[in-house]
Amino acid sequence: MSEIERNERVYKAIIKTIKDTPLAEYYTSGHRTCQGCESALLMRYMAKAAGPRTIVVGATGCMYVANTTYMTTSWVVPWVHTQLGGSGAAALGTAAALRALMRKGKIKEEPINVVVFCGDLGCADMGLSGVSNAMTYDYNFLIILYDNESSANTDIQETSMTPYGAQTSFSRPGKQKRIMKRRWKKSVVPMIIAGHRNVKYAATLTPAYPLDGINKVRKALSVGGPTFIHSLDPCPKGWDYDPMYSHKLGQLAVETGIWPLYEYYNGEIIYNEPTKGIVEGRIKRKPVNEYLEKQGRFSHFTEEDIEYFQKMVDEMYEKWEIPGIMPIKSINVKIKES
Ligand code: SF4
Ligand code: MG
Repeated sequence: MSEIERNERVYKAIIKTIKDTPLAEYYTSGHRTCQGCESALLMRYMAKAAGPRTIVVGATGCMYVANTTYMTTSWVVPWVHTQLGGSGAAALGTAAALRALMRKGKIKEEPINVVVFCGDLGCADMGLSGVSNAMTYDYNFLIILYDNESSANTDIQETSMTPYGAQTSFSRPGKQKRIMKRRWKKSVVPMIIAGHRNVKYAATLTPAYPLDGINKVRKALSVGGPTFIHSLDPCPKGWDYDPMYSHKLGQLAVETGIWPLYEYYNGEIIYNEPTKGIVEGRIKRKPVNEYLEKQGRFSHFTEEDIEYFQKMVDEMYEKWEIPGIMPIKSINVKIKES
């Protein structure tokens, strides 16, 4: 596909207003996710954005267990389960099989979307090497990391994506040690774009911004090749809050700067609102505590912990070379003359 064709496809994919989104649903009733589950909403948006000519592949996690329980399913499009760390291999295998079947004339030649989803443990921890490997091949698929910041379907265990200090069943605060999760959360999209030249499109989203999310899925599928999306999904069970605040927490994650919204397309970073406004200085970042104080998993935080969290987020915007995304500084490389 030429650069011009690719741009045209991306432009056509963009939906201008929420009223123009397709009415048809391909992820419907029949799932057993918790009330207020933003990952379930992500699945709904993703299926709506991708449309009927789509194969969905799902690694083990909440969106596998809750969506296909005891002969029930919410998927209207074909759906396949893969192992917890198997999303990269499954993406590659499905896309390669479709290409081979079309080339051999066994099925009609037509665009069929391959969308593979995996949770934070399945994608950013255990499955990362497979995802990285898949991203080096020239096949058409989209991998979506749905990140609820814990292994939620096995009772909220800590992953590398759990935020600093958050309480999980593996990181309970105690009298001797208040902060058990001391590692800072990984940034997966920067890792994908810096390390995989085949990737033409990657983005972050959160379901609190539906049109932004739907358009990102459509753009990823239109650009083609291996593409990647990381969604931050508030999870009432794991984050310990009233389910009615799911959207509010998604918005606050962005408004505090903890979760920047952006796209990478053809070598450029495009910030999306309200992150764009934050980076340009038009919108003031909200204090991180507005986000932290609403969740039981941070209820043990003292002033000192909140200050540390705030300092880490401030650095992302005040010191990083690519604000909110990468701390890399450009350096002058001197070539040694022989
Ligand atoms: Fe959704 Fe969290 Fe419930 Fe899993 S535990 S179904 S991610 S709300
Ligand atoms: Mg998870």
